[in-house]
Amino acid sequence: MWKKLPLIWKILIGMVLGMVWGIVAVALGWDSFTIRWIKPWGTIFLNMLKLVAVPLIFVSLVSGIASITDISKLSRIGWKTIVLYILTTLFAITVGLVLVNIVKPGNTFPEEKKIEIQQKFSHSVTAKQKTAEEQMSRSPLQFVVDMVPENVVQAASDNSKMLQVIFFAIVFGIAIVLLPSKNVATVKSFIDGLNDIILKIIDFFMGFAPYGVFALLAALVVDFSGDIALFKALGLYFITVVAGLFLLILFFYPTLMALFAGVSPLKFLKAILPTQLVAFSTSSSAATLPVTKRQVENELYVQSEISNFVLPIGVTINMDGTSCYQAIAAIFIAEVFGIDLTFGQILIILLTALLASIGSPGVPGGSIVMLIIVLTSVGLPVEGLALILGVDRPLDMLRTAVNVTGDSTVASLVAKSEGAMRYPWKKNNKARKKS
Ligand code: ASP
Repeated sequence: MWKKLPLIWKILIGMVLGMVWGIVAVALGWDSFTIRWIKPWGTIFLNMLKLVAVPLIFVSLVSGIASITDISKLSRIGWKTIVLYILTTLFAITVGLVLVNIVKPGNTFPEEKKIEIQQKFSHSVTAKQKTAEEQMSRSPLQFVVDMVPENVVQAASDNSKMLQVIFFAIVFGIAIVLLPSKNVATVKSFIDGLNDIILKIIDFFMGFAPYGVFALLAALVVDFSGDIALFKALGLYFITVVAGLFLLILFFYPTLMALFAGVSPLKFLKAILPTQLVAFSTSSSAATLPVTKRQVENELYVQSEISNFVLPIGVTINMDGTSCYQAIAAIFIAEVFGIDLTFGQILIILLTALLASIGSPGVPGGSIVMLIIVLTSVGLPVEGLALILGVDRPLDMLRTAVNVTGDSTVASLVAKSEGAMRYPWKKNNKARKKS
């Protein structure tokens, strides 16, 4: 019976049981057992996903670009991808700004809690502030410099340098397209074979997903159990962020998919749920990439020629959930400190949140350093960050789920506009449909 259950149910059951285990463990004092014997299985699952992320990005991008064969088509797809990523991010930030201005969560924040929470988290802020200051003191062009690796092996050895791997993969793929096909036929079929091998490995690893998410969530509940009081103080802020993220997941993306990709909201949400659940459990859109790609190709029928190109780029530069959250967090901090922002400053928040979405790595808490840059850009106190750090992990989980939904939506829209959907019910196309 368990074997026949669709993956999505297995993951859901794993998540729910993980949370239940965590709650029971806290109540019965099994914390140490959970951390010592259960948490490691979650880490193993995370490592499995991270293990395939870099090879997957390289191989899928090269094989995606090489299969397009026409440079003008490639640049058209490239432009569509970038423009759609920017537009969806701007919309997400606007949702955040509108919501936070309606709810005004900072105005009801208890003054005595402000000092207490600030003191509690001041240590973590100082460390992150140093990193942010280093980043801000560099040349504005440093992010372009960072994209170009000086050593490709070194870039591939560090999961946080995915943009460098993407840069090399794009150049490599374009070189293949420009060379006479007989010169590169062997390399192309080698890369295609490698692509299939990596996809097979992902299938193996996904079999472990239900157990992995069980362990991740059980450990998370145990780790988090001490911070319940924080939730009470930050309740309205928390609810505002959750509302913004749910608006995007439940209305914005399904509407785009229905209008421009011809996919009904229910079908879309069902197809994307396993990706969202893994993103939610791991808090890392980069680690979730193997699942995102699998679902987008198998359940939304996007041809791999498009998903291979659009998704790896999305993981590194498109973070709608993150930018929506950053807009809300910045305004919340301004409200708590009684700082009135001008319209110009709000526009600066919009722009810096957009840049932050591009600059944040797809790892747990990856956007915190960028949030400091958003705060600094309009002169908001960086210490304000201490207020929200305590409840950041669950919000990180949710915004990561939004981030991967945004990537999947844009991949589908680009595929639809290029006539690159591979519906299995239509003849003459070979969908890679798996359970
Ligand atoms: N954890 C997020 C992601 O991986 C990034 C962030 O918002 O901190 O997409």
